[in-house]
Amino acid sequence: NREQKYILVTGGAGFIGSNYINLFVKDENYHIVNLDKLTYAGNLDNLEVEGASNYTFVQGDINDKPLVKELFEKYRFQEVINFAAESHVDNSILDPSAFVETNINGTFNLLQNAYVLWMNKPFSIKEGFKNARFLHVSTDEVYGTLGAEGLFTEETPYAPNSPYSASKAASDFLVRSYFHTYGMPVLTTNCSNNYGPHQHDEKLIPTIIRTALNEEPIPIYGDGKNVRDWLYVTDHCKGINLVLREGRFGETYNIGGQNERENIYIAKKICELLDKKIPRKSGKSYADLITYVVDRPGHDRRYAIDASKIEGELGWKADENFESGIAKTVNWYLQKYQK
Ligand code: NAD
Repeated sequence: NREQKYILVTGGAGFIGSNYINLFVKDENYHIVNLDKLTYAGNLDNLEVEGASNYTFVQGDINDKPLVKELFEKYRFQEVINFAAESHVDNSILDPSAFVETNINGTFNLLQNAYVLWMNKPFSIKEGFKNARFLHVSTDEVYGTLGAEGLFTEETPYAPNSPYSASKAASDFLVRSYFHTYGMPVLTTNCSNNYGPHQHDEKLIPTIIRTALNEEPIPIYGDGKNVRDWLYVTDHCKGINLVLREGRFGETYNIGGQNERENIYIAKKICELLDKKIPRKSGKSYADLITYVVDRPGHDRRYAIDASKIEGELGWKADENFESGIAKTVNWYLQKYQK
């Protein structure tokens, strides 16, 4: 249906991509093509797309050159959102190679195919897809680590410390270069830590809930005082959509919810919620299960986002505060883990 705009969403079976699709598949002005390799992190069960005629799934690698070329030629995408990535810092420490292949080379392959479709005749932006847009989803980890004070702004110099954040930083630079060199309509978002439904079991919040329910030690790195700025996933997705449709080309937008919390605070908060919902048979608090484990090498101490640009320019604001978001999240994982 060519009345609809075709939008390529990569990594749409992962945590944030699936939340994005579940939220925006309802907009029938768009046809979403979800390209996902289905690595260990991708799961089609994350998607709520039954009966949607404006949704197509393609299993494949963003770094597969013939496949991506074929998809761009077939669907002539007007918009691209690149969520696909290797996303777990611990895995990048064990073996960074997939991070280079997917995060850097895969992003390059997408950019290059968008360039060929949009910037070369007969589809040049000037004549054809005036509203073409390429949004690259990135992280605040590219900025490195903060001391006790200060916030990351869009002007903060990049200083990535893990192979994960270095690969994301490299991809951000490639995206930037396609604007400055070719005038491509690209946008980048750098977001803080997300939480909410459909996050992979390996990540901090699902791990806390799952281990607590299993009566296992709840592992917390180092002294537990590392600070992250937590954002409920659908608030991130709404920010992405706003930047995609209304952001200024070539710009980057930080997205964050002003919810700085130490990891140990998160663990204790979740234990408190669980204590009320399903008290332990022993009568003790789940917090007794918290166990400090050897810190991650190169573990950044503090991340915190200044989101005033997206708030001021585009009117974005998070709907959830940390307390409302974490309560929803715990309820969701209780359903998942108690099945
Ligand atoms: P995720 O690991 O849950 O999902 C990644 C998805 O990408 C999976 O479905 C996986 O199968 C797919 N994928 C991996 N390699 C692929 C490839 N080569 N080709 C096609 N698909 C591939 O990740 P997430 O947490 O949803 O993160 C999505 C994006 O958001 C990433 O780019 C990440 O860097 C960024 N981000 C994440 C957070 C966070 O807190 N989770 C914060 C800021 C930015």
